[in-house]
Amino acid sequence: MRVLVVEDDDRVARGLLTALRHAGYEVHRVATAADALRAAPADVVLLDLGLPDGDGLDVLRELRHRPGTAVITVTARGEERERVLGLRAGADDYVVKPFGTSELLARIEAVLRRTRAHRAEPESEAPVEVGPLHILTSTRVVTLAGEPLSLTRKEFDLLALLATRRGEVVSRDFIVDQVWQAHWEAPSRTLDTHIAALRGKLGDRVKIETVRGVGYRLAT
Ligand code: CA
Repeated sequence: MRVLVVEDDDRVARGLLTALRHAGYEVHRVATAADALRAAPADVVLLDLGLPDGDGLDVLRELRHRPGTAVITVTARGEERERVLGLRAGADDYVVKPFGTSELLARIEAVLRRTRAHRAEPESEAPVEVGPLHILTSTRVVTLAGEPLSLTRKEFDLLALLATRRGEVVSRDFIVDQVWQAHWEAPSRTLDTHIAALRGKLGDRVKIETVRGVGYRLAT
């Protein structure tokens, strides 16, 4: 994790660098707004809003365009207006000088958790894979050996359920409950019909095994 410290006060900067390096961060420090904008991308920017060559808020607005960079503003006690403007301009958090090392580290960890969770969203889903079968539940796309498989809505739900529990026996009751929703008395034959249809579409490459009297298992 890279932290960029934007701080013109050498004494404050030294303390920050020591504490952050001690906590295991890769830390770089710049002392001006111009250098802050030129610096290599960081996961977290600790941004002093009182900089000698310009408004820290302008730096903040510029950094907001860089996805994956969290910004924590640093202001002096009494600079409430700057703090508020910073939050309005998109700062993820702020600390007020003088602040303790443990408070700062806790805030850095918190913003990193938030930005990572946020960033992970679009790409978080790994396909469910069972041999040549790939299932993306968010888009409901299924491929078998690279070829798209056309499934009905219920066939998809059924296959996705078995695939996420591949290798396990999934009971008929549980399947009916999950795929046809609870409380609906799905006739047993409905499930059998869907299993038969899925088997037809999957062919020999992916096997849905019947576990007599219990349910079904997607063989791995
Ligand atoms: Ca300053």
